[in-house]
Amino acid sequence: ASGDFTQRVPVQSDDEIGDLACAVNDLTHKLEQALATGARERERLRAVLRSMGDGVIAFDGQLRPQFRNAAAKQLLAKADVQTDDPAAVLGLSISDLQAAGERAFVQPLGDALVHVHVTAIRKRGEVEGYVATLRDVTEQERLQAFRRDFVANVSHELRTPLTSVKTYVEALQEGGYDEPTREKFLRVIAQETDRMVRLTRELLQLSGLESGNIRFAETLVKVDEWLLRAWERFRLTAQAQGVTFQLKCQTNARLRGDPDWLDRLIDNLVSNALKFTASGGRVEIRAEPAGVDSVRVVVADTGMGIPEEDVPHVFERFYRVDKARSRRRGGTGLGLALAREITERHGGTISLTSRLNEGTTVTVVLPLAEEVTV
Ligand code: ADP
Repeated sequence: ASGDFTQRVPVQSDDEIGDLACAVNDLTHKLEQALATGARERERLRAVLRSMGDGVIAFDGQLRPQFRNAAAKQLLAKADVQTDDPAAVLGLSISDLQAAGERAFVQPLGDALVHVHVTAIRKRGEVEGYVATLRDVTEQERLQAFRRDFVANVSHELRTPLTSVKTYVEALQEGGYDEPTREKFLRVIAQETDRMVRLTRELLQLSGLESGNIRFAETLVKVDEWLLRAWERFRLTAQAQGVTFQLKCQTNARLRGDPDWLDRLIDNLVSNALKFTASGGRVEIRAEPAGVDSVRVVVADTGMGIPEEDVPHVFERFYRVDKARSRRRGGTGLGLALAREITERHGGTISLTSRLNEGTTVTVVLPLAEEVTV
């Protein structure tokens, strides 16, 4: 009766007392086993609840908490509330639960979004308590919102040039315009088509990079040659724009990477610098060692700069400081997002600093190729 099951009754006779002693011993053994199984099950259940990623809270019939696992404690702690009562934090009430029997909803807790599912536990028809499971769906919701925004952005970005192409094509079909006007219309059509081609190409590159489907070559790239090629590509554009364009390379280091993608990276940065720098301004590409095993590549301009509040967002897809301004200059809002992906795939980091009306500096730090000494 006191829970010690090691005791046995000595069986001394084979009469009824002896039978009774045997029965008591048998009963003790079975009871011991049943209790051990129960304890094992409880321990197993506790281990499962403890290690579960989802939060679990058990309430009694009055919604008083009886148990909560570590995940539940963690999720509840995210809420900015004074109370320690989980039912209050989750906004549960007995009347709601009695009416519906079970409830499932998404509840913001601090900056997290939590999916809550509450069910009643019944015993012979009577509600004995409730169990709530909590799942952090912040990331899932964020991804869904991101996907919605993304589709909306792409549709919008394609619709704008398509609308103008359609308008000009219709005007040409109607006829009645002189040769110079027709030329102008065709120029706009060509420009807008170019932009759509660029947009779809950049989107494909971005999604390829993000999905990891694109394989990078692992070539040795000499930093000075890489930057000199870029400088050559933009030299004439800068000249035509009246922008001083300089290359200052103080390293003969080598990277291991994909030359085509590295070209795209530097092209995006230099074309932005030129795009947003007016005549009389200066654009500079610099390269210098950064520590013993990295190189710092800087593209700096004295252009129009970016307002402070926009700086943290410029690497986001489709983010443009001034939509009209960027679109007029042929921007897709994907250039810096691509630049970041390419840099990160090469094991590097990219950052941007800017002052409005003073200029912008983008810094890329890339790891150098390990030199093989023979
Ligand atoms: P876009 O194709 O529009 O240039 P990016 O992703 O390359 O898109 O850049 C995002 C936004 O950041 C641009 O629209 C522009 O407003 C701003 N930006 C980028 N580089 C510069 C720069 N060098 N000077 C001023 N603004 C810049």
